[in-house]
Formats: sequence, structure tokens, C-alpha cells
Amino acid sequence: MSGLSDDGAGSAARALCAELKAADGASETRALAALARVFPARAARSGVLDGGLGVLTAGFFRRLLEGELAGGAEAGLILFHSDRLAEIRREKGEALAAQVLGRMAEVLRPRQTAAEWLGRVDGDSLALLLPQAGLLATQERAQSLHELLHRNSRLPVSTGASHTRDLSGGPADLLRLAARAAQACRDAGGREARALTSRGPVPAPVPAADSSAAGAPSLTARYQRLVLLNRMSLELFADKPFAEALADACGTVLALTGGKSAAVYFCDDIGQPSLAARRGEGPWTAAESRSEEAALAARALAERRLLTPPGGRLGWAAAPLLYPLQGDRGGLGALVVGLPEPRPGDPELEQTLLEISRLLRNARLMQRHLEDQKVLAAVTEQSADAIYITDGEERIVSWNTAAETLFGRSRADMLGRPLALLVPPERLAEHAESDAQALREGCPKNFETVRLRRDGSLVAVEATFFPLRDEKGRLFGMVRVCRDITRRKEIERMKSEFVSLVSHELRTPLTAIQGFAETIFDFWDELQPEQRRHYLGIILSESQRLGRLVTNFLDISRLEAGGVLLRPALVDLPGLARRAAVLFKEHPSQASFLVDFAPGSERAWADEEQLYRVLVNLLGNAVKYSPSGGQVAVRGRAAGPAVEVAVADQGPGIPPEAQEKLFQKFYRVGDPISRKTPGTGLGLAICKNIVEGHGGRIWVESEPSRGAVFKFALPREAPRPACES
Ligand code: ADP
Repeated sequence: MSGLSDDGAGSAARALCAELKAADGASETRALAALARVFPARAARSGVLDGGLGVLTAGFFRRLLEGELAGGAEAGLILFHSDRLAEIRREKGEALAAQVLGRMAEVLRPRQTAAEWLGRVDGDSLALLLPQAGLLATQERAQSLHELLHRNSRLPVSTGASHTRDLSGGPADLLRLAARAAQACRDAGGREARALTSRGPVPAPVPAADSSAAGAPSLTARYQRLVLLNRMSLELFADKPFAEALADACGTVLALTGGKSAAVYFCDDIGQPSLAARRGEGPWTAAESRSEEAALAARALAERRLLTPPGGRLGWAAAPLLYPLQGDRGGLGALVVGLPEPRPGDPELEQTLLEISRLLRNARLMQRHLEDQKVLAAVTEQSADAIYITDGEERIVSWNTAAETLFGRSRADMLGRPLALLVPPERLAEHAESDAQALREGCPKNFETVRLRRDGSLVAVEATFFPLRDEKGRLFGMVRVCRDITRRKEIERMKSEFVSLVSHELRTPLTAIQGFAETIFDFWDELQPEQRRHYLGIILSESQRLGRLVTNFLDISRLEAGGVLLRPALVDLPGLARRAAVLFKEHPSQASFLVDFAPGSERAWADEEQLYRVLVNLLGNAVKYSPSGGQVAVRGRAAGPAVEVAVADQGPGIPPEAQEKLFQKFYRVGDPISRKTPGTGLGLAICKNIVEGHGGRIWVESEPSRGAVFKFALPREAPRPACES
């Protein structure tokens, strides 16, 4: 307890110190250093803390270092140094030099974690001790603190890291190694922190003034390395397929390391490394060396550290590619280099590998990011739903193709425009509420609403909105997905119409059949034979109507399922039209029929039975809607390779807005005449299915109150067999 007791520290501090020592078995120096954080003034008086800088004194820091390394424990050391301080001291005096060093300490002090110790070391340097840290962690920490110092002080700082791995000397060697690494950082322009490990005793760093003379060859080598690293960086980020870029980069790895082979492994989604690129020659690339190479990649990844195995059949080195902020995520991959001979613990090689692996890691991250972006863009683009994104001010910043189709507005037209363009004025309040709800609840919200198209029409949509927030939780946009539900709405409408129609259309004949059958059954003897015959006649016609209805239902489902086999042949159209007309001779409307086929239009290539059903349906409708004694005309004319048949009546005609929907299942015009006329809305859908099944076309031409003309076109002749040439 010398540090604090010399000064006569209070018993509370002594007790705390003892407690700290007992709690984690920490060395006495570590307990004292911890106490210095609690009692800085006292620690300053007792020589533990440098009062001016607020960091451990050089003497105490060395003691702490000795204590930490005593058990052979792993540790990293980072040294921060500035040659300019000596200059400042010379030119401007000690006070200013101390002030500048104080500024450096001020930047670093708040960054040390509870497990790290910041102290002064001889000369104008500060050092951070990282007990139990691995080499890579030390290197990453050195780089981030180096960048921090650069951002926060105008003083040029060189940062060097050393590590106990392979260190055969003691704390002094660790310090010297860090000082040499800082020097290497300075010599390379000070842009990146350096890290070194060493097996043998470490010579003292070369003073700055001497470096140009003594280090001339290594300066050239360093310059060479920088050029190669730069080339590799350009190769990796070149505008070419990533696999090619990687192969080029492997070539440069050979030049950088003096290696004979270079292989890059990337991890797949489940963290298994697999080969992405390899360059080189000789036994390292031979088939029997592959498993050795792959095993080394896996080991570097698992142990998360550089490997330079000392012996073996071939020389190898491997470096893991790790995420910048590792957390407990697996790695990204590994680099394995085949060497002419083993170079265990070679600091130059390790430094080079660290730099290469950082470049490879960044390239891989960038490539993944671009791939993710591409996938996302493809998914958005291919989506059948309109997907658009708005920024914090509700302006559109992304607009996919489906949105172009749904809203009839191009991407160029919409980017940067306000979202409100798509919201009908009467829906603005609902829109504000749905946005507020999405913001409140954060999860996607589904709701049905309507939106405005460019032409002013409305479209029914199912909308899902979800907010986009940055890592601090601040809102920066909203993703909006709109699905066109026009068809669904139509089907819902048809379903409900179908239910009411079926209940009406099936109930009416059933009620009649049941009623008359009961009457006959109960009053057989009382009824006159004519009455019985009359009632039975009603039962018969109503059951025939029911039969037709059921046949229609079955037909449409069969036709739609493609279950009707067509047997086309040349059909005599006027004959078929007359046969169909006979069916309606007795119809109460007493319509008359005209059958008129122009020369060349008497034949069609069709399935006679199916075509007969088309004519029966069309003539049946024409008769149903004809005024009493009206005329129904069936005409034919040749139209190129087709024959066009028209069925015209003198009825109420079809309103223009209904003409498009007429051929849909269960659709019936909502006017009073159609309402009065029995029907299921299936006849025309059946006609359409049959005609289109023949490769033909069916449509209607009508002006209100001027009758309706239903037309269909079919081929006149059998299709010619395809020529074999
Ligand atoms: P259904 O006649 O059994 O209702 P259809 O599919 O044959 O079914 O016809 C659908 C609707 O088209 C009818 O309900 C009617 O409103 C209208 N329609 C069909 N043909 C005519 C016509 N010749 N004149 C006027 N309206 C017609």
C-alpha cells in the first residue's frame, strides 16, 4: 500500500484498497490505480496520478505494467506520441508543451474503459494499457483512438500498439515495441496506427531525426507497400464483377507479402467459410494442400487472430476478416497466404496482413451491402403491389413500377412531389389518422381505403404503412404499400349478388313446385282432372327452369375449369340459328325472327353443340327483352378469315357503363326491366367462354332504347396445319 499510505491516506481508502484486492485478486498496483480514479487529489499527492494530466505518472504506470505482466498474462499496449512536443518545448517553453500534452490526455481520458489504464511514459508520450486484450482488439482500439486524436487535436500524433503475444522480454520491451510501432506510424505518414509483436528483445526506437538516414531501405519498402495497398484498394473497388476484382487483389497480395499463393475465403449465411478466390502456384495451390489451407482459414476465423505457424510441410499465414464492431457476430471470412518458408511472428508480415485483411473486409462489406440493395430493389421492382417511400415531409422519394401502373403516374412525375396528391380530399383526415397510428404502434397497419389516380378516378386499395427510423429512433420516412383490391371488391359484390340471386332464382320455382305438388297430393279427389293437369304443367315447367339453372351453374364451372372438349367442324350457321329460334316460337313476347347470312358467311369452324348454346343464350336474351311483337334478327357477314354473327333486338338496349361488365359471371344490369326479368347473369359469361375457347371474340353494340346487338366472330375455316420446312 505504499502509494497511498505514504501520504497518510484515510482508513476508508485503505479498506477499499484491501477490498478491491480481495474481490478480484487484482495486483496491488491495479487496486491503487482503481483508487486513484476515486481519490484523484490524494493519488496525485502520493505520486500515483500526474495531477496536471489526470493520468497515471510514468513511474506508477511502469509499476502497474510490471504487475499486470507478472503472471504472463496477455495484454496490449497503445502508445501515443508527438514529435512536435519537443519542438514546442524548445521554441515556446515547458508550460505550453505541458498544456498541449494535457489536451491529448483530455481527449483520451474519457475514452478509457474501467479495465484500461492511461498513463504517462517517458518522454512526451501517453500510453494505454489493455489487460487481457487480444492482438486484434488492441490493433482495432489503437486505430480508433488514433482517428479520434486526429479529429480532436491539431497536433500530429503517431500511434503504435504492441502486444505480449510472442514477447520474450519484459514490460520494457513491450513499451519499446509500442514506441517502435508509433515510429512506424509516423514514418508511414501518420494516417494509420501500427501494431507490432516480437519474439526477441526489442531495440530502442530510432530517434526521429535519424530515421531518414538509418531507415532508407525500409522507407523505400514502406513506400512500395503503400503503393501496393493503394493498388489493391483500387482493384477491390473497381467497377467490375467482384469475383474478378478479388482475383486481381489476390495477385497484389502475393506482391505485398512475398507469398506464393493467396486465397480468400468468405463465410456463407451459416458462417461456413468457402473459397472465393485463389491466385498463385506451386505446392500451396496443389489439391493436397487445399485442406491445409481451408483448415487454417477456419482456425484463424475461430480464434479471431493472425496465424503464422512456425513449422509444417509448407509455410503459411492466415488472417481473419472480422466485422469492424465485432460484438459476438461470427467473422466475414479469412485470408490465407502460402509462404516460401514459415515466418512465425514476423512483425512486418503481420502488419501487412492486418492491412490487407482490413481492405478485404471493407470490400466484402461493401459488396454485401450492394448485393442487399440490389435484392431489395429487385423485390420492390418486381412486386405486384405499389410500393413507395415518403420522407419526413411526406414527399415521395421512391416509386416502383407497380405504383406507376396503379396510380397512372410515372416515377419522374412523382419523385419529390407531395404524398397528398394521391389522397382524395375527403380521405385526408383518415390518412392523417392512419399515419399517426402507424407512428404510434410502429408495426405495419393494414386497412382498406381509396386513392386517387392521375385521371381523377378512384381506386380501392389495401394499404400497409410502416415507419422508418434511424438508429436513434428518429423518424426519417415511411414505407407505403398499396394493393389494388378492385377485383376483390368486385368479387365480393358478385358473391353477395349471387347469394341473393340464387336464393331468389332457386326459391321461386321450388316454392311453386312444392305448393302445387302439395295441393295435388292433399286434394287429389277434389280437383278436376283439368286442374290437376294445369298444376302438373306448372310443376313441369318450373322444374325445367330449375334444371336449366342448375345446368348453367355446372356449365360455367366446367367451362372455366377448361373441362369442355371442343370438337370443331364446319357448321351450317343459318341452319343452326333457325333451330335455336324454334325454341322461342311460343315465347310470350311473340317476337318474330329474321335469319340473314350474306354469301360466304354461312359456315364457321366450330363445335356445333357449343355454338348452338351460344345462339340459344343470345336469342333467349333477345326474346326476353324484346317488346311485344318485336323482331329479332340473326345476321352473318364475312370479315376476313372470320365470320361475324350479330343478334339484334328492339329492346331497351344496354347502358354504356354496363357494356364492359356484361360478360362477367353473375352480372346483371341493375335497371328495372332486367330486375323484373328472371335470369342468373350466367348466360353471357357462358357465351364468352365458348367463343373464346374457339379463339373467337364476343362483344355488344348498343345505344340505350335502340335495342342491343350482340356480335361474335369465329374462324370461317379450319386452321391450316403449320408448314414443316
Ligand atoms: P341472364 O339473362 O340470365 O340474367 P345473361 O348473362 O344472359 O344473364 O345476361 C346478363 C345481363 O345482361 C342480363 O341480366 C341483362 O341485364 C343484360 N342483357 C343481356 N342481354 C340483353 C338484351 N338483349 N337486352 C338488354 N339487356 C340484356
